Amino acid sequence: MDYLELTDYYQKLENTAKRLEKTYLVSELLKKTPEKDLTVIMHLLRGSVFPDWDERKTGIAERLIIKAINVATGISADNIEQEWKKKGDLGNVAEKLAGKKSQATLFQKTLTVQKVFDNIRKLAEMEGQGTVDRKMQLLAELLSQSTTLEARYIVRTALGDLRIGLGDGSLRDAIAWAYLIDPHYDSGSITPDNREAYNKVIESVQTAYNNCNDFATVAIAAKKNTLEKVSLILGQPVKVMLAPKAKNIADGFERVGKPAQIEYKYDGFRVVIHKAERISIFTRRLENVTKQFPEVVEALKNVKGDNYIIDCEAVGFDKKTGKYLPFQHISQRIRRKYGIDELSKTMPVELNVFDVLYYNGKSYLNEPFEKRRVLLEKIIKSEQKKIVLAAHIVTDDEKKADAFYKQSLKAGNEGIMMKNLQGIYKPGSRVGFMVKVKPVMETLDLVITGAEWGEGKRSGWLTSFTLSCMGEDGYLDIGKVGTGIKELESEEGVTFEELTNLLKPLIKEEKGKTVKVKPKIVVSINYEEIQKSPTYGSGYALRFPRVVAIRPDLNPEEVASVQEIDEFYTGQKK
Ligand code: AMP
Repeated sequence: MDYLELTDYYQKLENTAKRLEKTYLVSELLKKTPEKDLTVIMHLLRGSVFPDWDERKTGIAERLIIKAINVATGISADNIEQEWKKKGDLGNVAEKLAGKKSQATLFQKTLTVQKVFDNIRKLAEMEGQGTVDRKMQLLAELLSQSTTLEARYIVRTALGDLRIGLGDGSLRDAIAWAYLIDPHYDSGSITPDNREAYNKVIESVQTAYNNCNDFATVAIAAKKNTLEKVSLILGQPVKVMLAPKAKNIADGFERVGKPAQIEYKYDGFRVVIHKAERISIFTRRLENVTKQFPEVVEALKNVKGDNYIIDCEAVGFDKKTGKYLPFQHISQRIRRKYGIDELSKTMPVELNVFDVLYYNGKSYLNEPFEKRRVLLEKIIKSEQKKIVLAAHIVTDDEKKADAFYKQSLKAGNEGIMMKNLQGIYKPGSRVGFMVKVKPVMETLDLVITGAEWGEGKRSGWLTSFTLSCMGEDGYLDIGKVGTGIKELESEEGVTFEELTNLLKPLIKEEKGKTVKVKPKIVVSINYEEIQKSPTYGSGYALRFPRVVAIRPDLNPEEVASVQEIDEFYTGQKK
């Protein structure tokens, strides 16, 4: 397929804010896409040449793009910079300037999607001396062969910021619309013949995606009508199964049945570990953090098996006392790129294993939980402060469950998990095969969508942060927070500097002291009370909010929803 055809769709997608229209456009494109181009198209639609979880990144800076535009068009870097200041988007700059290309390109070849994909992929794979120059040449080659519209999107893809506003939900639905169902679409609304059947099809696409996290694999399977065969792929992250909250132990038993397995609910962060030829450690956000946790890789010597996928909570502990530390103490380890060995000694984690999804070539997703636990007990040799099986009991007795709950809290954990012995493992869903029971009012996980530049001794830092939750159609603000954040690096906890460094590259709009940022950084927030409020989009506000921790392990899509906040609001009144 010609790249021009794809960019034509990009432009249409960029020009509409309507989700259904976007979905329809993508489904139309997919119907036209020959199978040989499908993988490439699925990647490019997400504005990337690798799945999100891939460790390889294009690693292209704005400076390099400017140089490439300069080589491709002969226009000076200064002029390009000026245009950039005016337009604020290098893609648009490349588009405008590509129209002024010199004759060298009169013998233009048509760019194919494959060619663009290959060249941008090569950028990521280049290493060593002279790399920067070769990267620039590859980009310049593409730009000199491109039309103006193509130039816009080549640059944005290289920068990893396509700006067509296409979410995973629309991509999923578009796959269904293209290959599996044909709902009637009419200027902004759809009418499936049968809503129930429609939802089932959408769910089947989502299930396949939850297993492999790769839209290309899912689209190809949908086209061939083999979605149900899409299972786990060793080495490719799988979305973890999530747990709804039970009100108390009785409610927990009601939801998961009796007897149930009850486990400590550790206060660390979730990791799913794959062992194939090599070991990969993924967070719940599907980020590969293998390099950051050498002590975990080491501890896996205690697991038998040629290949496997296990689900665990990594918990920090105090080297001296051996006591567990709350999550915020070790959160910094998830992002750390330097001093890793040192940190793995001073701030080590213990791996608490509670599930197994795959073992020696076989998926265990559809096996009952009790069988998976038996397998775990066979393959893991527990060694305190390295790798242990999650502490558990199996009981139908509320008193015993309650005693275990108290014991867990005393040991420094957050509460307990109650698990259905017959439950299968459903990646990515909150089906209720396991539920959590915790005592305190939850901290809320929210995403930062804005901030304000500080004044006086805080100038140069972003200070007051706008927090948002998830509404029906995107994020809605619920308040601002400025407390719980430290001024000095030496103090324990989150610092203004740290947050500023994380947020600065995400700024998308700036007016006076106020900035809007892309919703990427998730924080856990403590508060006294939730109140109704007309001030914020969500209709709620938090009384005395405080930042407890930055959550690099959480996905922005997973932040608290308005419905959940509404439930907490009602709950606190009782
Ligand atoms: P929450 O983060 O409050 O929604 O609680 C669910 C999380 O608890 C899971 O995603 C895990 O990261 C964590 N967790 C701690 N201990 C366990 C356990 N024994 N079984 C399952 N999840 C656990």
